[in-house]
Order: sequence, then C-alpha cells, then structure tokens
Amino acid sequence: MIDLHCHSTYSDGTFSPSKLLEYAEKRGVEVLALTDHDTVDGLHDFFSHETSVERVAGTELSIDYDSGTFHLVGLFLDYKEKRLNETLDFLKNARRTRNEKIVAAVSGLLGRKVTLEDVSDGNEGELGRPHIAKYLIKCKVVSTMQEAFDKYLAKGQPLYVDKARLGFDEAAEIIYGAGGIAVLAHPASLRLSDEELVPFLGDLKERGLDAIEVFCSEIKPDRWPFYHGIAEKLGLGVSGGSDFHGDNKLKIALGTGPDTLNTPYSVYQALKELTQR
Ligand code: AMP
Ligand code: FE
Ligand code: FE
Ligand code: ZN
Repeated sequence: MIDLHCHSTYSDGTFSPSKLLEYAEKRGVEVLALTDHDTVDGLHDFFSHETSVERVAGTELSIDYDSGTFHLVGLFLDYKEKRLNETLDFLKNARRTRNEKIVAAVSGLLGRKVTLEDVSDGNEGELGRPHIAKYLIKCKVVSTMQEAFDKYLAKGQPLYVDKARLGFDEAAEIIYGAGGIAVLAHPASLRLSDEELVPFLGDLKERGLDAIEVFCSEIKPDRWPFYHGIAEKLGLGVSGGSDFHGDNKLKIALGTGPDTLNTPYSVYQALKELTQR
C-alpha cells in the first residue's frame, strides 16, 4: 500500500512529519509522499528520520482557472530547487497577508482583538482556514469544522478572503523545473460533469499534466474505473493518496482514506517512470 498525498503540521495537518512516518510504518504504508499546501518546508524534517518507508517529496498547489480553482500536487521534487522555493515564498507571504485579513474579520466577529498567535496555537507551519475553523470551535462560535466552513469560511461566507494562486502553466513549469511530475488532486472536486471532465483534462494534458489522482478519498470506489478509463484514454498517469490531515479530517486514515483505499506499489513505480521524460 502507498499514499501519495498527505499533510503535516507544516500546513494544515495535525501530525508532524516524524509522527506521519511512524504512523505509516504501523499501518503498512510502504511509500509516503508529503504534500503540504504551498510549502516544501516540512520535507527537510520528513527526510531527516530513520524509517523503512520510501519517501517522496511533494507539495500541493492551489491553481486558478477560468471557472474556479483546483489543487495540483507536485511529486518527486528536488525540494531545494531555487525557482520552486522562490515561488513558494511568494505564496507563503501572500497567505500570511490573507491570514491577517481573516484574523481582522474574526476580531470583528468576536468583538475583541484576535491575533495570528491566538489562532496558530503553537503551530509553526503555514496557517490555513482549518486553523481558523478550529479557533472558532475553541471559541464556541461553531461546534464542527464543517459548520465553520459552511457558515464562515467557505467562499461567499463572512470570513472568506481570496488567496493568491498560480495558473496551471506556471505551476507545471515550476514543478518540471524541480524535476517533478504534475498530478491533478482529487479530480471529483472540480465538480465537472463526466462530459465536461474529458475535454478539460485533455487540455491540461496537452499543457503538461502528467497524472490524475484516481485512488483518492473523494472518489467512491465504484467510480475508480471511470477515472481510470479517462486517464488511459488521455495517456495520463494514475496516482493514489488519502489527503490525510490527521485530526483535521477525522474520517480519513493514512493509506486507507475512508477505509477503501489500498493503492498498490505498482502505481508508485509507474509514476516514478514519468519523471524520466
Ligand atoms: P486554505 O488553503 O487556507 O484556503 O484552506 C483550504 C483547506 O481547508 C483545504 O485544503 C482543506 O484542508 C480545508 N477545507 C476546505 N473546505 C473544508 C471543509 N468544508 N471542511 C473541512 N476542511 C475544509
Ligand atoms: Fe488541507
Ligand atoms: Fe487538496
Ligand atoms: Zn491535500
């Protein structure tokens, strides 16, 4: 079993990289990719531990396109590469400015001054909306993460602030520049109909997309053959990942996701070959 998509305390996961590796060993995950949002900062930590788990250096980038946003995972990265790091620094700065705006709005909501330190609660990684959601739970404004997003943090809600994103072409170029491959994360989140999905992915493929996640928590097993078929038809590789966030997404386990994932080692081998372009 492999897992090519998960988050640590360096973004909005609740497990440190070393805890992720320990947990991966315990659960029989043979290959693990760390794919924190808009950062590779956790990878130094991730690669510094003794473990039997094979590790893949990754990140998850937010991408703007004509009718919305999607997530693009970069895998097999040379995570010290200069342009990748410069771009991620830009995104991190933009995220910090955004977080300050969100926290100002939270202060308005609660009628008292709230700081980024209050929200981060000791977390040294990049803050995201899940951290704000947890703070709203702590302040008893809402009782669940879902309620926090639905009432306050989702697009169109009072605490939503837009964030800086890359375009697909730039993101793909940066991933290739760092020796990696570009993988569309959880394609069901595009919310495209089956008819719309094929031309959309065909266009991304022409512009450099390497693979799509098929074995992921957001796609039910009965739909895997459909996504697998599209990948085959378009000549795209196939990836698998749980999108594990620790306690921030309680129903998703490392390796197995909502219990159904068990991505085989051969998926990792096939993706690794795509780096040899
Ligand atoms: P951000 O990058 O700060 O915009 O935060 C986006 C992250 O929030 C996503 O990657 C998810 O981890 C999380 N998220 C988005 N929507 C929800 C939701 N409805 N419930 C829980 N977590 C969510
Ligand atoms: Fe996340
Ligand atoms: Fe994602
Ligand atoms: Zn993710």
